[in-house]
Amino acid sequence: MNILLIGSGGREHALAWKISQSSLVDVVHATPGNPGMDVIGPCFDVAADDIDNLVKLTLQVEPDLVVIGPEAPLALGLADILRARGFDVFGPSKAAAQLESSKAFSKACMKAYGVPTAAYGTFTAPAPAKAFLRTLEAPYVLKADGLAGGKGVVIADTLEDADAGVDDMLSGQFGAASATLVIEEFMHGEEASIFVLTDGVGAVYLPAAQDHKRVGDGDTGPNTGGMGAYAPAPVVSEAVMDRIKREIVQPMLKGMAADGMPYQGVLYVGVMVTEAGPKVVEFNARFGDPECQVLMKGLTGDIVPAILGAATGALEGNETAFEALLELDTFQPSATVVLASKGYPGSYAMGSVINGMAEANHLPGVTVFQAGTDRDSEGALVAIGGRVLNVTASGATLEEAISRAYAGVDRIDWPEGFCRRDIGWRALGGSSS
Ligand code: ATP
Repeated sequence: MNILLIGSGGREHALAWKISQSSLVDVVHATPGNPGMDVIGPCFDVAADDIDNLVKLTLQVEPDLVVIGPEAPLALGLADILRARGFDVFGPSKAAAQLESSKAFSKACMKAYGVPTAAYGTFTAPAPAKAFLRTLEAPYVLKADGLAGGKGVVIADTLEDADAGVDDMLSGQFGAASATLVIEEFMHGEEASIFVLTDGVGAVYLPAAQDHKRVGDGDTGPNTGGMGAYAPAPVVSEAVMDRIKREIVQPMLKGMAADGMPYQGVLYVGVMVTEAGPKVVEFNARFGDPECQVLMKGLTGDIVPAILGAATGALEGNETAFEALLELDTFQPSATVVLASKGYPGSYAMGSVINGMAEANHLPGVTVFQAGTDRDSEGALVAIGGRVLNVTASGATLEEAISRAYAGVDRIDWPEGFCRRDIGWRALGGSSS
């Protein structure tokens, strides 16, 4: 079968790499893709949010399955448009994708379906927002309602900072995305990312992962898109996973379907494992980046039957068969280290040359996924983004996976890049330094 994969990040490179290994797949087309995906299958130059041209490209390629990587085309309704044209699509409808594109919608669903999450209020004017803050304890969590590129959350330590945050957001700091503001109770605990492949009713769960959002070692400095990840995450014990299934995912899927918005694709559940049990931090409508890279690297089985099953409605009642094809029992512990341009998540230079890719890729268990890369006029690999490479490795243990990933990092010759040196510290049981 032929696949059309939409996106260009490390997440999509990892998906293309894994999907292309399936005996069911002939060609993985990608758009816009990147230099790493280009060697897997043909790449086109249609951007991931250019809906009209994505529809035209799909009609031209006639894929058997469309896999939508990032959130922007989902929020714009690409899955609905392509399904209406008769294509099988892995990715939720515009209505269901609101679980990510509107935090107010997402919180309202959780409340309606009885799913545990932080207490909250939704506001469009400063006075009631500030009054609500005074019913909470510090720290205060302020969230822009809409998509803000991972930057729409402010955690304020004092009421004064929280009040200022309310004024900034409601006065249009994030444009339309922050016209509505969600204020939440702060949850204490350890975070983890859960990924559920679902056709709206049936659900297949991948191993829990954990990412590292802060830019600096020891979880310091500003938030980023993610500086590394690993799986499985020991904080999600079997008992915690059972509660996540029973108390979070099953009621969400049931509620969404009953409300005429069945969720098809991958549901990303960001959970806080609190003393009172797992609670939802956020939902996303797609795989996490960089969590996807470790999941694709660690899976020993075939991902294609499960994503095709999610797209076509074949999972319900057949979960065990799909789990067996994924070979979840032999999942290999995996880790990924993000190499980013110096200055990220602030401003950074572009165009520096990256060497050592082949050397890193030849190490046992190591695969380097590309994100913000391009080729210059002489064919050299150059950095064109903030997060540039994901040096990913699997091993017999998480410790081995992490040390393999760092061995890969050390083969990359790119003086303009940097990475965190403590990926996986929580799982390795202790301090980050
Ligand atoms: P992402 O880039 O992961 O999609 P986002 O901008 O959609 O992030 P959230 O995931 O909702 O925002 O919040 C970002 C981070 O802020 C969370 O990963 C978590 O560390 C912290 N956070 C959010 N809500 C809470 C809360 N209620 N209590 C404690 N920490 C929180």
